Amino acid sequence: MDFTMQDFEDNGNHKPDIKSMTLAELEEELANRGEKRFRARQMYEWMHVKLARGFDEMTNLSRDFRAWCGEHYRYTALEQIQMQESRIDGTKKFLFRLADGNMVESVWMRYKHGNSVCISSQVGCRMGCRFCASTLDGLERSLTASEMLDQIYAITIATGERVSNVVVMGIGEPLDNYENLLRFLRMLTDENGLHISQRNVTVSTCGIVPKIRALADEKLQITLALSLHATTDEKRKKLMPIANRYSIRELMDACAYYFAQTGRRITFEYSLVGGVNDTDEDAGELSQLAAGIGSHVNLIPVNPIKERDFVQSEAARIQAFKNKLEKNKINVTIRREMGRDIDGACGQLRRKNLAARDAASMPV
Ligand code: SAH
Repeated sequence: MDFTMQDFEDNGNHKPDIKSMTLAELEEELANRGEKRFRARQMYEWMHVKLARGFDEMTNLSRDFRAWCGEHYRYTALEQIQMQESRIDGTKKFLFRLADGNMVESVWMRYKHGNSVCISSQVGCRMGCRFCASTLDGLERSLTASEMLDQIYAITIATGERVSNVVVMGIGEPLDNYENLLRFLRMLTDENGLHISQRNVTVSTCGIVPKIRALADEKLQITLALSLHATTDEKRKKLMPIANRYSIRELMDACAYYFAQTGRRITFEYSLVGGVNDTDEDAGELSQLAAGIGSHVNLIPVNPIKERDFVQSEAARIQAFKNKLEKNKINVTIRREMGRDIDGACGQLRRKNLAARDAASMPV
């Protein structure tokens, strides 16, 4: 991969974003400025292991050098503006403000096997999935690698507990922010940083075929989750505009390619929408698609958003759908609904706050 310094520059102040630099890049950057190599390692550790929130916390660097860094580099950090904790399962939902005032959501979940964080990859989304709250206002901008890392860092600091799993399933389409996502994945799993195992990282996509293939060629050991949600192109187009661009056939080919390149099984995400995609026939077709590439199916009872009139399938229907898949020997789970009491669905918390902000700034 080739990155130019432009990738790190923000339009506002043109200072390079130091937290988005890999260790090798930081070494080169500081060497070019006449600094010793070990400085880069020290700084990298402050940023990505000790999770410093600014240059001032880097106490083994001289005051002068810290001041110089502040003049030359942008140091991203998130401001936590809200945290909701579920009384049902302890899930915590965070709303963060970015340096430019935009907001993103992240979720912390505790599982038996460790703590998992769900992060956002963009501010808003332009994919337009009909049931999703994150896309209602379109895309504002993509996040930098540092802003994706910052969500995990801020939550680690806030909870005081190590994060072992990361899912890129919050606001945004990660493959629509491909270069930054890749940089983020490399830094997150780098042994010089948090060193999260690639196998504990999942990236969820609505299905941008050329990017699935490009990601496959990177041969990472991460899990790819595909938001399928329908088994025919006709039905999928009604739920997801991206289906007008890529057919299910092309998607399955790309998934098979991902498996061939990485040896990692794909997860199909399938949100059950009452009366839309939850019949026995749907389950039969889904079984065929899943068997075709040996994937795992994750059923998600749709989380209704007030802007749309989709309803959840009845509990009995969800169970029958699952049974049918199991009968067809498909590996299937129903996603546990974490944090239902705290605006669990992606994008709902951010939207609520945007609405409140707009109302507050409206002339009376
Ligand atoms: N853009 C990525 C990741 C975003 S959301 C993607 O499309 O995969 C993560 C998952 O939640 C996706 O499968 C998405 O389709 C699903 N999702 C979004 N809103 C939902 C809702 N209201 N109810 C159920 N699932 C939803």
